[in-house]
Amino acid sequence: MLHQASNRFNPEDLWKKDHDHFLHPYTHFDSFKEEGSLVLVEGEGCYVKDAEGRRYFDGIGGMWCVNVGYGRKEIAQVMAEQALQLCYTTTFVDVTNAPAAELAAKLASLAPKGLNHVAFATSGSCGIDTAIRLAHYYQSRRGASERKYIISRKNSYHGSTYLGMTVGLRDGDQSPHFRYVPDLVHHLSAPYPYRRPDGMSIEEFSDFLVEEFRQKIESLGAENIAAFIAEPAQASGGVTMPPPNYLPRMSKLCRDNGILFIADEVVTAFGRLGHMFASEAEFGIVPDIIVTAKGLTSGYIPLSAVLFSDKVHEVISAPDGDAWFTHGYTYSGHPIACAVGLKNIEIIEREDLLGNAARVGDYLEQRLAGLGSLPIVGDVRGRRLMMCVEYVADQKTKAKLPDEVNISKRISNECEAHGLFVRPIGHLDVLSPPLIMTKQEVDFVADTLGAAIRKVTDELV
Ligand code: PLP
Repeated sequence: MLHQASNRFNPEDLWKKDHDHFLHPYTHFDSFKEEGSLVLVEGEGCYVKDAEGRRYFDGIGGMWCVNVGYGRKEIAQVMAEQALQLCYTTTFVDVTNAPAAELAAKLASLAPKGLNHVAFATSGSCGIDTAIRLAHYYQSRRGASERKYIISRKNSYHGSTYLGMTVGLRDGDQSPHFRYVPDLVHHLSAPYPYRRPDGMSIEEFSDFLVEEFRQKIESLGAENIAAFIAEPAQASGGVTMPPPNYLPRMSKLCRDNGILFIADEVVTAFGRLGHMFASEAEFGIVPDIIVTAKGLTSGYIPLSAVLFSDKVHEVISAPDGDAWFTHGYTYSGHPIACAVGLKNIEIIEREDLLGNAARVGDYLEQRLAGLGSLPIVGDVRGRRLMMCVEYVADQKTKAKLPDEVNISKRISNECEAHGLFVRPIGHLDVLSPPLIMTKQEVDFVADTLGAAIRKVTDELV
């Protein structure tokens, strides 16, 4: 049962206020002017309700984030209690609060071995800024102040701050209307197995990617490179799982060349692939720095955490009279946010949501694989509760449908009309449901998405 709160809202009034005053992230002004927003007002478990009272299965978990599901009373209680007890402290210099200290220690206990230190921020984007500033500071403090370049990959998304957008490179994000930090980032090819060059085996593709990195290091000079940044599995740039052994090989190149490996686990940490952290458990690497956000609080409140290694900490904390790590935010280690993080992790552990994500996620993979035979489906990919379907005009040539067809949006609209949210991105529809999803709900999702693809395909001919 969803909470009975819809009657507190006037749908038309809300729609108009939003339409007239709210600049949404990633607004497409033409369609927004015409259609405005879908106003959501309630959530419970895996379901949300709109202002008209329609109920949807939230197949995108908010936006990769509502891992423990909506409407958790114990999280609401913890927020209220912490707000009453101590709503805020700074954590600058030498002041702290109990939830921040407890959460830092808890994260260190869960992280891959050696990542015992945590800096808090308020979003994935701010966490990426922190990680890059940390990498620069570390390199400089160890006497390598020329190491400024950041190596990233195409199709990556690392957030929407000035620096985050400079580091990422998805189609369409870097338009000429925005400026980016010059001469800082170098992009390698995306590890996108489905669209690898024709005739290349997956092993050859892995060799190609690693060799490209090796050559990049050679051409820029290792002595000029601070860090390599990668989402272990690229999320909104295509939900791509890297070729086997690619990440360990990239990680070794980093180690051999004094380059820090920053894993952007904003999406993959806290259960989406069935592990607290995917870097080591799923992909066999131990990064120097891991950035987390989203699932850390399941979206109940903004919070991000940047975990980093003893090796980095040793260097940045070595005695040096004048050296200050002059970085941090007013809300770093916010007590209410950290209290929510602790409760959220407690729920994930107590309810074995990693186990559920693994079991139900394996079943989701299996059920979605069945859609692969539909004529406009080029690829069904992902892992567990991080999945997508890529649409094509021709399965053999992998040619895309013309952009004007707006295929993923049409299919997601059709899903929405039948009570399911999936997220259209380019030529994909993406799924990242809460970790509490059941097998029955997997059946609903696979059946509804399959029916939507069939219906839209019929309309195309
Ligand atoms: N990194 C990844 C992999 C993400 O998917 C996102 C957001 O979707 C971010 C960073 C940025 O996080 P935020 O939107 O909280 O700033």
